[in-house]
Amino acid sequence: MGDLGPWPDPPTVSASSLVKWDTCRRSYFWSSYWSWTGWERDAPRFRRLAYLLKKANSAYSVAGTYVHNEAIRLCQAAVNGGGLPDRDKAIDRVRRKMLDWAGQARTTTVDNATKARPLSIEVYYGEPLMVASATDNAVACMQNLWESEHVEYLAEATPKNIGPGEWATPILVLDEMSAVPIEVKGWRMELWAAPDLVYEGARGEVRLVDWKTGKERATDQAQLDVYALWCMERGTVAPDRAIRASDDYLQTGISRQDIPIADRALDRIEAMVVGLRKHVDKANKPNIEAERWPKLPEGSRECGWCEYRELCGRTR
Ligand code: SF4
Repeated sequence: MGDLGPWPDPPTVSASSLVKWDTCRRSYFWSSYWSWTGWERDAPRFRRLAYLLKKANSAYSVAGTYVHNEAIRLCQAAVNGGGLPDRDKAIDRVRRKMLDWAGQARTTTVDNATKARPLSIEVYYGEPLMVASATDNAVACMQNLWESEHVEYLAEATPKNIGPGEWATPILVLDEMSAVPIEVKGWRMELWAAPDLVYEGARGEVRLVDWKTGKERATDQAQLDVYALWCMERGTVAPDRAIRASDDYLQTGISRQDIPIADRALDRIEAMVVGLRKHVDKANKPNIEAERWPKLPEGSRECGWCEYRELCGRTR
């Protein structure tokens, strides 16, 4: 296929890229390599399409993003003092945004899609747009969000209630997406992460919170591991300091607390680096033949909702 460069250098790793690596090598390839530079207007069509599919969303993922945005506003307001934002107004805001998004999603195509106006996976694949049920889910999530013990704690632990000089604010990380450099098996990489909320608890312990708007998944724990590693590499948390991590499932109000954090993230990244090296030459150029990155077996459940199913010839 000729010269397909440039390629991402240094390679990046994130919770979602690790999930792709662990789940389906071909998905990792589309996402991390095939889509590279697809954001440029004059990018080759195959790169452009892979990039647009990578950025594509669904009604549920959009609703989840809106809930996360409201969670950020809520936590910020809690530490600022002066009361929490009105929940019903926030719910109305999310309902309106979902309707606006749906109108736009129905008219977004490969030709007019941009990063700010992504494709809808459902529309692209001719499936029903689940706006009503995704909105109902968002509303349920927000009702539980306003009841969260974390929010309650942040509202009580504002600086005005804490002795002078103890903490400027109990929030350590909120709404921050950034990369920290890591070196794994001699390979320099960037670790990208955006933990939902990290704050200091009542006894000075570090609380790491992941808001979940969907159902529990096997990969949820792995995400917390990556966030904890990112916190330590970034210097937010000293390596010897205990982290109390929790997955908070807003749909049901269930909070899985005190999930033990281990070095699993580093182990998984190391395994990925070892595997990647089999696919990448000395100049850090990956094998460009997609066939060398295995697909999941035909009929795999994951293919049914995968954004790349067209590239794999797995559309129904
Ligand atoms: S459609 Fe299936 S095989 Fe292809 S990238 Fe997605 S999950 Fe992997």
